[in-house]
Amino acid sequence: MGFMKALRCRECGREYPRKALHVCEYCFGPLEVVYEYGKIKKSLSKETIEKRPQNMWRYRELLPIDGEPTVGREVGFTPLIRARNLEKALGVKELYIKNDAVNYPTLSFKDRVVSVAISRALEMGFKVASCASTGNLANSVAANATACGMESYVFIPFDLEPTKIVGTLVYGARVVGIRGTYDEVNRLCSEIAGKYGWAFVNINIRPYYAEGSKTFGFEIAEQLGWRLPRHTVVPMAGGSLITKVWKAYRELHMLGLVDNMDAKVYGAQATGCAPIVTAVKRGKELIEPVRPNTIAKSLAIGNPADGYYSAKTIRESGGWAEDVSDEEIVEAIKLLAEREGIFAETAGGVTLGVTKKLIEQGRIPRDESIVVSVTGNGLKTQEALHGRLEEVPTINASLKDFDELVKKMDEKYALEG
Ligand SMILES: *Cc1c(COP(=O)(O)O)cnc(C)c1O
Ligand SMILES: [Zn+2]
Repeated sequence: MGFMKALRCRECGREYPRKALHVCEYCFGPLEVVYEYGKIKKSLSKETIEKRPQNMWRYRELLPIDGEPTVGREVGFTPLIRARNLEKALGVKELYIKNDAVNYPTLSFKDRVVSVAISRALEMGFKVASCASTGNLANSVAANATACGMESYVFIPFDLEPTKIVGTLVYGARVVGIRGTYDEVNRLCSEIAGKYGWAFVNINIRPYYAEGSKTFGFEIAEQLGWRLPRHTVVPMAGGSLITKVWKAYRELHMLGLVDNMDAKVYGAQATGCAPIVTAVKRGKELIEPVRPNTIAKSLAIGNPADGYYSAKTIRESGGWAEDVSDEEIVEAIKLLAEREGIFAETAGGVTLGVTKKLIEQGRIPRDESIVVSVTGNGLKTQEALHGRLEEVPTINASLKDFDELVKKMDEKYALEG
């Protein structure tokens, strides 16, 4: 039924059967899903897609499953918002927010990759879904596995935000905290995957998982009226999302669904964990691993699996990469909330903060279309704002007290202008 042809090594091009494989046996390059594009081109049109339900599976010909999706059928098609207030604040002409802070069901873009990964894991006969996570993936694997009656084992660094831990445990997932960084969690999980035979969505079935990210890019193009934005700013953790947004744009162009390939992608990281940005800035091929130290925990991967390819993608597209401090992340979270009424998590602060910087540097011109990728919800990382917002004034339940308070507030805001 599907149009998935094979897995292919990104380095040497060797092809592999469509199984639970992720590295090339010959050169250790990563495997990627390839499709029968000729057939897809014949059967897929804008009109066909537009008639389908508003979720990410409307692009199913370009997703790596054989049958019907069985997990997360309602995921995706999140709003693309024209951010008029932010345009004024940043002094640009055409700015959009792609808002996966409201993605179904766990409020981050990870629901896209997980619904693909688990749908495929079921096709391959796996009984247990698993992952190494910086938080959002944990939430999504736990929720989506439960919803399809699968057991899940979720591995996280022990010092994750409390809300992300609660938002995993509540689904009945088996959560294991590891004393170490994400990179140490990931290394352990590779060993567990081999020994226990579970479907680690972002390890042994990573080629399928990663394809889910393309839908973020497909939707941006469709929501712009089948046109690519000139500039897309994307947060990077393992570096997969940015490479897949680019792949999505290229596929749409190749299939004739968008006319113009005039698009650049920009990578965003926190200064406290910016191995990919550093490589781009220095023009280096190799990614030097770092030990993360930032409030943007969802992006805190010091040794990114797709670091090399994300730097390459950024270069190939003609884009650039930047990083922002924890201070700038918080400022950007507040800017987005105060201007557009969108509460993003720390990763969103990273992306908007970096966008602002790139505009100020002149790397992104002020008169061209820009899309800012908001990938997670602020309710999950509230501690980032502790001590950073106004105190709530508390009064007695009396009109007189309130009258006095209004006077005080009027004076205060008059002073602040
Ligand atoms: C995982 C994650 C990312 C980045 O994903 P990669 O594909 O690993 O680069 C971005 N934003 C949020 C909120 C995430 O949870
Ligand atoms: Zn190879």
